[in-house]
Amino acid sequence: MPEQDLRERFPQANLKLAEDQLRIVERLSSLKSYKDGETIIQAGRRDPNFYVVKSGEVEMIEYSSGRPKVIWTSYAKELLGDVSFLSGRASNLSRIAKGTVQVFEISRENLRRIIDEEPSLGNVLLNTLIARVQIMRDLNLTALRLIGSRFSSDAFRIREFLYKNRVSFMWIDLEADSSASEVLKQFGMTERDTPIVACGSDWALQNPSNRDLAERLGVLTRPKEEVYDLAVVGAGPAGLTAAVYGSSEGLRTIVFERTAPGGQAGTSSRIENYPGFPMGLSGDELAGRITLQAQKFGALISTPCEVRKLEFENSYPVLYLPDDKRVSARSVLIATGASYCRLNVHGCERFEGIGVYFAATPMEAQACANSQVVIVGGANSAGQAAVFLAEHARRVFLLIRGDDLNKGMSRYLARRIEQTNNIEVLTRTEISHMVGNGRLEAVEIRSSPSGETRLIDTPAVFTFIGATPHTGWLPAPASTGPRR
Ligand SMILES: Cc1cc2nc3c(=O)[nH]c(=O)nc-3n(C[C@H](O)[C@H](O)[C@H](O)COP(=O)(O)OP(=O)(O)OC[C@H]3O[C@@H](n4cnc5c(N)ncnc54)[C@H](O)[C@@H]3O)c2cc1C
Repeated sequence: MPEQDLRERFPQANLKLAEDQLRIVERLSSLKSYKDGETIIQAGRRDPNFYVVKSGEVEMIEYSSGRPKVIWTSYAKELLGDVSFLSGRASNLSRIAKGTVQVFEISRENLRRIIDEEPSLGNVLLNTLIARVQIMRDLNLTALRLIGSRFSSDAFRIREFLYKNRVSFMWIDLEADSSASEVLKQFGMTERDTPIVACGSDWALQNPSNRDLAERLGVLTRPKEEVYDLAVVGAGPAGLTAAVYGSSEGLRTIVFERTAPGGQAGTSSRIENYPGFPMGLSGDELAGRITLQAQKFGALISTPCEVRKLEFENSYPVLYLPDDKRVSARSVLIATGASYCRLNVHGCERFEGIGVYFAATPMEAQACANSQVVIVGGANSAGQAAVFLAEHARRVFLLIRGDDLNKGMSRYLARRIEQTNNIEVLTRTEISHMVGNGRLEAVEIRSSPSGETRLIDTPAVFTFIGATPHTGWLPAPASTGPRR
């Protein structure tokens, strides 16, 4: 899309600071000069600073086609960057000087000071940065490409990790996308090396672990101190909310999250009962909003970081983290939620990520577009998934053990299901067998009490059959309390 069109289509992303706003920026920044062609921000690299152009022009370059393309030019008094600066993540786009350029360079700490001390300027900046993130997502402007097979569980793991952490990326499916071989050739790799994560023509990682990928993308945030006022374990809605209140009260707050902010709610396609959002919102959006709110008040969201153990030393709780790190806090709030229950069907685990899913987000929906899908569960999570997947799949089978959907599900959802033509509710029915070689191809279902079986061709089974508290890492109750 031409530059001028972008500016017209997204005026909310285009901010020119007024003279009084510029004076605040000037006070809290240092002046830097760049020559023509010099890179100010490099896509795929972390930059702890935030910039406002003082003089000259800066070109914004995107790489989604695999080749650099100028999509926006910033002029004097305009901002460079997006909200990744607040979270410390790598940017998706490069910014390059066109002619001689002078910029005000603002550290992340000073950006926070502006947000705290100059709220009207802070709000304008935040709104512009958020708008830019949304545009990048809508237009899929990203230098990051994941090349892999839809039947690879590692490719699924990486996709899920990027998706949950709200990292924009382009999925290049070996089975369906002819551009895959071109990208592989660029890095001297073959299909056998996949999954591969590549950033522009800058770097490529072969089957990276979530933690390595997080490190490279700047998603990984480590504790900066050894003692905090408040340490929260788990970044579901409960943990994130605690972080907003703790940090807004001035407590030095850290949140540890083993995968990505959002928890179970982050996998919900539409939450309609969250106070303040009468039209409903996706779990992903809810997670993004609360995370930003917590970060705005200075809370550190450390992810991916699994807390392994809790002990007490001199009455203070100590949390044990990966890489033998420890962090202590005056108070610890445990909000680790629950882990999903697995289906008790022989061989089910071999299809996890390549046919058996525990969430129904747009990512999983892609994997079963125009196919038949099977959902197991009779409560609201299963109901939401059924309604959502019915928009993408040809047919949705909803399997419940009982005989009445209304027993475990809210009335509004049960009614929506009844009114959706391509959802078929199968009562008193369970999965008895899974069929497939390297990927799920079909499931055998059995109804009771007749014992009658039937085979359903499907690439995807979604299970929402409850959860158990995630408390295995905590000390036994008898030794929990601090000794006095
Ligand atoms: C698909 C789906 C749809 C839903 N829809 C709705 C809805 O519409 N309305 C509604 O009210 N509720 C809904 N729910 C339920 C709602 O999501 C949960 O009640 C809510 O997420 C619970 O929040 P929580 O913060 O207590 O725990 P969780 O959301 O479970 O979050 C706990 C977090 O802790 C992390 N964690 C666990 N152990 C550790 C550790 N040792 N170290 C670091 N991190 C750890 C986990 O990774 C997780 O992110 C839905 C649930 C699902 C699954």
